[in-house]
Amino acid sequence: MASSAAQRTNEPGNGLRNDFDMAGRENNPGTDCDVAIVGGGAAGLGAALTLARAGRRVVVIDAGKPRNRFASHVQGYLTRDGMPPSELLAIGRQEVERYGAIIREGEVVEVVAAGKREGEWFVLALADGTRLTARRVMVTTGLRDELPEIEGIAELWGKDVHHCPYCHGYEVRNQSLGVIASGPMSVHLGLLIRHWSENLVYFANETKQVDADREKMEARGTRIVLGKVRRLVIADNRLTGVELEDGTVVARTALFVGPRFVAEDSLLARMGAETQTSELGTWVLTDRMGSTTVPGVWAAGNVADLGLQVINAAGAGVMAAAAINGNLIEEDTRDAVVAAASTPTRNPTAVTIGAAG
Ligand SMILES: Cc1cc2nc3c(=O)[nH]c(=O)nc-3n(C[C@H](O)[C@H](O)[C@H](O)COP(=O)(O)OP(=O)(O)OC[C@H]3O[C@@H](n4cnc5c(N)ncnc54)[C@H](O)[C@@H]3O)c2cc1C
Repeated sequence: MASSAAQRTNEPGNGLRNDFDMAGRENNPGTDCDVAIVGGGAAGLGAALTLARAGRRVVVIDAGKPRNRFASHVQGYLTRDGMPPSELLAIGRQEVERYGAIIREGEVVEVVAAGKREGEWFVLALADGTRLTARRVMVTTGLRDELPEIEGIAELWGKDVHHCPYCHGYEVRNQSLGVIASGPMSVHLGLLIRHWSENLVYFANETKQVDADREKMEARGTRIVLGKVRRLVIADNRLTGVELEDGTVVARTALFVGPRFVAEDSLLARMGAETQTSELGTWVLTDRMGSTTVPGVWAAGNVADLGLQVINAAGAGVMAAAAINGNLIEEDTRDAVVAAASTPTRNPTAVTIGAAG
C-alpha cells in the first residue's frame, strides 16, 4: 500500500502504481500480466513506459541484441545524441522499472492465442521453458540486416561500414567515402551519400542499375568503378580500401552499403500476421497505431517499419501502447456492461419530482 506522503506526490516509483485498481482483472483468466512486450529495444521500452504509467501490469522479455549494438554511439536522438546504445537502453530500463514494469532477459519462442474470445489472452513460451500469460501482446523484435556477402563488411559493420547517413553521415563527412552497390536501391544511396562528401566512389559491383543513372552521378563528381568487389582491405581494425577482383585497391576510409532488411517476425508469422515485402526487405503489416492483422497483437519499431531510427522506434512503441491500453479499456467496459446487466437491479427509490418538501 502506498504511503499517504507518496500518494500526495507525483514522483515515479513511490507506490502510485499500486494505487491502481486493476480494472477488469476479474474478467480475464488471471493472467500474469496485462501486456507482454517481446523485445526490449527502443520500441519495446517506449511502449513499456507508457503502459506502466497507465497502471498496466507489464512484462518485457528481451534477448538483448538491439540492432545498433555494433555501433559505438546512437546519433540523432534528441537529448541523447552520441550516447552509447547500451547506456540509452539501461536508462530506458530504469525508467520503465520505476513504474513497476518487469524486465526479463530471455527469448520468446512461441506466442499462442488462448482465450475463448478472439484476442482475449495469450500464452508466451520462453526458450528456458518459462510460460507467461498476458491479455495482450506487443512484438518489438526489430529487424536483422542481411549484409552483402563481401569479406570484411560484417567485421566493420557499424564501425567503418554504415547504411544510414542520418545515423552516421556526419561522423564521416568529407572523408573518402564509397558506396558498394548490392541491389536496386544502391544508386539512390550513391546519390544520397554524395551530399556528405565530394570524394565519393560508387562501386557498381557488377550491378546493372548504374547505367541509367551514370549521368546524374558523374554530374555530381562521383567516380564510378565497375567490376566485382572482392574484399575490404583492413588494417588495425580500420578500413583502408576496397579491393576488386582484378586486384585493384581503391583507398577509402568509410563505406555505405544497403543491407536487405528482414523483420524479426517469426513469432508473428506463426500466428498468421500479414507481412509485406518490397525491394528493401520485409516487415509486418500494422495500422497506424501498430495493430497487426492478428487480434490482440500489436507490433512497433523496426519489425513493422524498416526505416525507423531509434527515436521514432521509441515513439512508435508509445503510440501502440496507447492503442493497447484503449483496447483493454474497451474490453473492461464491455465486460462491465454485461456484468451490470446480469446483476439483479435494485428498486430505485421513488421520487416525486416537484413535490412540496
Ligand atoms: C549499425 C547500426 C547503427 C545504427 N545507428 C543508429 C543511430 O546512430 N541512430 C539511430 O537513430 N538509429 C541507428 N540505427 C537504427 C537502430 O538500430 C534502430 O532504429 C532501432 O534499433 C530500432 O529499435 P527496435 O526497438 O525496433 O529494435 P531493436 O533495437 O533491434 O530491439 C529489438 C530487441 O528485441 C529483442 N528480440 C528479438 N527477438 C526476440 C525474441 N524472440 N524474444 C525476446 N527478445 C527478442 C532483440 O534482442 C532486441 O533487444 C542503427 C542501426 C544499425 C544496424
